[in-house]
Amino acid sequence: MANTGWDEFEIGAMLRTFDGAIEDIAGTRQEDRNYSPNSSFTASVADWRIEKPIFNKDYCIDCQFCWIYCPDVSIISRDKKMIGVDMDHCKGCGICVEVCPTNPKSLLMFPELADEETEIASWPTKEEKEK
Ligand code: SF4
Ligand code: SF4
Repeated sequence: MANTGWDEFEIGAMLRTFDGAIEDIAGTRQEDRNYSPNSSFTASVADWRIEKPIFNKDYCIDCQFCWIYCPDVSIISRDKKMIGVDMDHCKGCGICVEVCPTNPKSLLMFPELADEETEIASWPTKEEKEK
């Protein structure tokens, strides 16, 4: 199974995300879930990304919009506090940046190789509203 290529599966084959019985998966934290070896949780897909989001906590209001809208469940939030981005699974789509409501935004997209500390040090300033 571990060495089966994507084009070797029979049509209609199903890969299970979790091993064993699943109970209250929504109420179970990621690190406590019983992910199977063929789920994307254990297989990093980060190399798909050409741009990455960088999180600047100084402007974050913990609205959780990024957590709600991320299509890859890659926003890490604990007790309704935004903590950061799971870079093993983020695919760099930029949706979290689009929905972030702060001014300046608390998440911005940068090239994959950008240095986080450098970008945070030169973060954009507040944009004035057009009158
Ligand atoms: S860039 Fe896309 S995949 Fe990555 S954290 Fe933001 S919304 Fe999620
Ligand atoms: S959308 Fe922006 S302000 Fe809201 S929790 Fe995410 S980073 Fe923070």
